[in-house]
Amino acid sequence: MKFTSFIPGPSQLYPTVPHHIRNAVDQQILSWSHRSEDFRQLCENTVQRIKEVMAAPGNVHVFFLGSATEAMERIIQNTVERRSFHLVNGSFSKRFYTIASQLGKEPEKLDAEPGKPFDFDRACIPNDVELLCFTHNETSMGIRVNMDDIRHMKQQHPDALVAVDVVSSAPCVDLDWRIVDCAFFSVQKCFGSPAGLGVLIVNDSALEKSKNLEVKGISIGSYHSFTSLLEEAKRSQTPETPNVLGIYLLGKVCEDFLESGIDVIKKRTEEHAALLYDFFEAHPVIRPFVEDPRARSQTVVVAQTPGGSKRIISSLKRDGFVIGSGYGTYKDTHIRIANFPAHSTEDLQNVINKISQLDVDE
Ligand SMILES: *Cc1c(COP(=O)(O)O)cnc(C)c1O
Repeated sequence: MKFTSFIPGPSQLYPTVPHHIRNAVDQQILSWSHRSEDFRQLCENTVQRIKEVMAAPGNVHVFFLGSATEAMERIIQNTVERRSFHLVNGSFSKRFYTIASQLGKEPEKLDAEPGKPFDFDRACIPNDVELLCFTHNETSMGIRVNMDDIRHMKQQHPDALVAVDVVSSAPCVDLDWRIVDCAFFSVQKCFGSPAGLGVLIVNDSALEKSKNLEVKGISIGSYHSFTSLLEEAKRSQTPETPNVLGIYLLGKVCEDFLESGIDVIKKRTEEHAALLYDFFEAHPVIRPFVEDPRARSQTVVVAQTPGGSKRIISSLKRDGFVIGSGYGTYKDTHIRIANFPAHSTEDLQNVINKISQLDVDE
């Protein structure tokens, strides 16, 4: 049976993607050499469109990786000798921290209580901190960090670089590129594309740090070190045979976004988020998990289901709407609903109507 996916990734394909996939097949793009001039142009086009949708300055560098998780590892390897600091408010921010430990660094962190904003006054950030790591939109909990808080922390530690995971919010995020040195996302969330491609955007300060580590004899990785990625990116190439289809589709989806207007997409996302939060606010049993409206994610709406989420999820599934369960320990007490550009107002209204008709246990 056909269904509409509201899973927070992989999610519903952006409506134009099937057409772009067929086009890629028809034009034989998938048989192009990744060293050909045609591929170089394709790659250059996608890089340009990414910069536009992310409102990034011209002097940043865009690297293609296998996933967003890979971006976490590459950032740690290339910008941290010893100490990163992580704002941990869910599973993905925790993973970033864990990766730093696994790479033999000495990361520190500030934990937030589940669903609560950070108590920044409690952060003990060491003076030798080299990298501050934020997850702009914590997909596991439906909570976001505000740009002002990132700015504030950077002001207190001006020598540290700043890395921001924007996996489940890009391009619906206003990044302040004056303070962000590394940002990354994968394509199966808001970009509504097939999984298997990560995008990492870095500035010259991040590259310089990587160079310094390399000179010191510290390992910055091999084929996907910043040095190696930069060398190839300069001529719109990648060190390895890349995900050509993914790079093509991302470029096309970015073009579609730009045609609609990024501001229009952002505004629509906020309107849709308000629809969902207002509905759960008024619901007798199911409530928004994140109480503070300023901290609520606009792209992944998480609600508490005290009587269990399984029955709700399976009822909706019978009607062709697939929504997410809670993440990790919240598997059966939360539902998660993706609010991505691929989701129309009608889709969301339908999900809301279905949930409102359910007889939900307390
Ligand atoms: C999905 C997600 C990731 C991981 O993305 P992959 O493409 O699976 O590596 C990382 N961070 C956040 C916030 C996510 O939502």
